[in-house]
Amino acid sequence: MEYVFKKLPTIKAQLQKSRFVLLLDFDLTLSPLVKNPAKAILPKDTKIILKGLLRHILIAVISGRKLEGIKRRVNIPGIIYAGNHGLEYEMNGVIKNTLISNTSHAGLKVVKGKFLKLKRKYNGIFIEDKKTILALHYRSVTSKDKPLLLKNLKEINVLLGKYRLLGVLYKKTFEVRPTSKKDKGTISLFIIKKMHDPKNLIYIGDGRTDEDAFVALERNGITIRVGKNNKSKAKWYLRNQKEVNKFLRWLLNLLNHRDKSFR
Ligand SMILES: [Mg+2]
Repeated sequence: MEYVFKKLPTIKAQLQKSRFVLLLDFDLTLSPLVKNPAKAILPKDTKIILKGLLRHILIAVISGRKLEGIKRRVNIPGIIYAGNHGLEYEMNGVIKNTLISNTSHAGLKVVKGKFLKLKRKYNGIFIEDKKTILALHYRSVTSKDKPLLLKNLKEINVLLGKYRLLGVLYKKTFEVRPTSKKDKGTISLFIIKKMHDPKNLIYIGDGRTDEDAFVALERNGITIRVGKNNKSKAKWYLRNQKEVNKFLRWLLNLLNHRDKSFR
């Protein structure tokens, strides 16, 4: 992994070769860390930079959140939005959903019941129902309760297969979603195809679900992870979420000083 700010000329050279698009994760990439994920926001200065960038290039925000939630939080017309890791997306004002099977639907109901039970059992659990995805956040659960909770989550995880559901544990969140092929990688490839296959792209993300995109976009993407992690498939890294802003500002400056439009 290479540090973005150490090799800006390399990135600049690559971007100047051809048209490019910008794909962005939301939580902990565009939005700073908050205790309660319901309170995550897009900082004002980031919003201004994104609006500026949108005058030059196409931008997509790809999130694990519900489509409606991610749209409301970013709230910039003209951006392509994908929610639930691509299970739903909005492009050019048209909203599309990937339908999930009845089996998975029934499974999500069962899981929600189990999550609610855990919520009653332990303090500090926050459940997010994103219709096609369920998330149980346990950042605020005491360290004393955590081992037992994790054991309970593992028990739930074992049940998921028969409902064609998949459980992912990351960053103090246990997420359950249908084992459909939609992930941040497939939706990224789909979106760039719709963007007429630009030769170049930048993808910035911080989490485990972004790894699907890092892998899918390996060939021609400038894949950037927020936070260095040598296990990541991203080629580049930024040290923290604050540096995302700094990088986007640099990008805007680069585009503002370029004559031709790269849309
Ligand atoms: Mg994230």
